[in-house]
Amino acid sequence: MTTPAYAAQSATTPLAPFDIERRAPLPTDVAIDILFCGVCHSDLHQAHNDWKGTTYPIVPGHEIVGRVSAVGDAVKKFKAGDLVAVGCMVDSCRTCASCVRGLEQYCEKVNTQTYNSPDPHSGKMTYGGYSKRVVVDEAFTLKLSEDVDMASAAPLVCAGITTYSPLRHWKVGPGMKVGVVGLGGLGHMAVKFAHAFGAHVVLFTTSAGKTADGKRLGADEVVVSKDPAAMAAQAGKLDFILDTVSAEHDLNAYLALLKLDGTLVLVGVPDKPLPVSPFSVIMARRSFAGSGIGGVAETQEMLDFCAEKGIACDIEMIRMDQVNEAYERLLKGDVKYRFVIDMASLKS
Ligand code: NAP
Ligand code: ZN
Ligand code: ZN
Repeated sequence: MTTPAYAAQSATTPLAPFDIERRAPLPTDVAIDILFCGVCHSDLHQAHNDWKGTTYPIVPGHEIVGRVSAVGDAVKKFKAGDLVAVGCMVDSCRTCASCVRGLEQYCEKVNTQTYNSPDPHSGKMTYGGYSKRVVVDEAFTLKLSEDVDMASAAPLVCAGITTYSPLRHWKVGPGMKVGVVGLGGLGHMAVKFAHAFGAHVVLFTTSAGKTADGKRLGADEVVVSKDPAAMAAQAGKLDFILDTVSAEHDLNAYLALLKLDGTLVLVGVPDKPLPVSPFSVIMARRSFAGSGIGGVAETQEMLDFCAEKGIACDIEMIRMDQVNEAYERLLKGDVKYRFVIDMASLKS
């Protein structure tokens, strides 16, 4: 099925209209009309080939919300008309130790990403959500409540789960002092979740102008990281830090803020290595770790948690043809706090 989309043809060309083919639904497939798609900084990194793994043309987009238009004969969980979401993965091996534990994002064999991943069906690369339609196996399709605002829910399936999963894994909760570094798409959800889990939340931002928003979103304290005295005042005070920064920055400045046995988890993916001084981790037996999105079951758990607690993303809605401008703004840290594309703006 020919489907309108937006693609980048090289690392230096803006995204522009591009037709793609979507497969006819196989027995376990769900065909989805895309209503909204969030704009993740990973879309920008990959469109610009920051991580050196991009195959062109690339159609980004892995924060997809839409309605089911048709299902394959063997589909059990979905029917036409259902509201659904698709995040960063569309398949995995389903049999390795990670997949069996519901950690498909750490599949040891093949993890098919929603875009820029070898597509076993087409023999080409997968194409993402900056498009009118997508066809996904039901095992990687998520249910979305009719009670939520669809556009504000779209970024939950990347920005939401990427912050929810490490906060749950490291058991963030009452009595803990938790730092969040960077107030963008991921950071604003990290602040909301850490607050909802009962932690004392300290937001670290380079943007003094985001202080009031940080507090409104759930931070108990906001530290402007360019202020050396404010940073020094937090030294050795934090149990856990989630670092969502998309660009090069000094990890040692944040490791120094952890208590004995504290952990800093990196979810941001800058395009260059980030040096860690041995003393930053040795001095207080600190841990430095990373975390990638979340598995299918945990993503569904997070969507259900958000629907129940009324948690959603703060979004700026854009038209498909404004995506290049949105990328420019993301590079300046100028987003409040996730761009979401209204796919009705892309003509069929
Ligand atoms: P975003 O909306 O652009 O937010 C990033 C924030 O980082 C900015 O708003 C800014 O916050 C801060 N920042 C930017 N440049 C900085 C610099 N030079 N120094 C210090 N702080 C800076 O990006 P996002 O969509 O949240 O994504 C964040 C990162 O996570 C990206 O690298 C993305 O690829 C990655 N990611 C990883 C996963 C995963 O599974 N691990 C999943 C999704 C995304 P302030 O203005 O508050 O300083
Ligand atoms: Zn993402
Ligand atoms: Zn696997």
